[in-house]
Amino acid sequence: MSYDNDNIFARILRGDLPCHKVYEDADTFAFLDIMPRSDGHLLVIPKTPARNLLDASPAQMAAVMATVQKLSRAAMQAFGADGVTLQQFNEAAGGQEVFHLHFHVLPRKDGQRMRPPGTMADSDLLAGQAEKLRAVLA
Ligand code: AMP
Repeated sequence: MSYDNDNIFARILRGDLPCHKVYEDADTFAFLDIMPRSDGHLLVIPKTPARNLLDASPAQMAAVMATVQKLSRAAMQAFGADGVTLQQFNEAAGGQEVFHLHFHVLPRKDGQRMRPPGTMADSDLLAGQAEKLRAVLA
C-alpha cells in the first residue's frame, strides 16, 4: 500500500484545505476532528508522509507520540476532562478512513460515552474549542 499525496490530511498540511489548527512543531501538526466524538476531539499527525503505523518510521512515531502526550495533557485541562481515550486505525480493515497516520485524542469526563461517529460539528463551536486548546498550550 502506498501513500496518496492527495489524501485529506496531506491537503490540510499543504494549506489546500482549511482546518481548526491547535498545535504545530517541526515534525507534527494537530487539529480538531470535524466529526468530534467528544468535546475537544483532536487529531495528531506527522508532517511527513506515512500511510499509518505500519509504514511509519520510529522517528515519526516518536515525534507523534510526544505531541499526543502534550495535547492529551492540554485537552484534560482545557475541557476539564477526567481522562483521555486514544484511537488509531490502520488500513480499511482496521477502521482507517483517511490514509495519513493519525492519532485521535478524545478528552472524556467520568461516565461520559463517546458520541456516535459521523456528525459534523458546527464550525464556530470548533473554532472556540481550538482557541481554548491553544490558550492552554500558550
Ligand atoms: P479514521 O481514518 O477512521 O481515523 O477516520 C478519519 C477521521 O478524520 C474521522 O474521525 C473524521 O471525522 C476525520 N476527518 C475527516 N476529514 C476531516 C477534515 N477535513 N478535518 C478534520 N477531520 C476530518
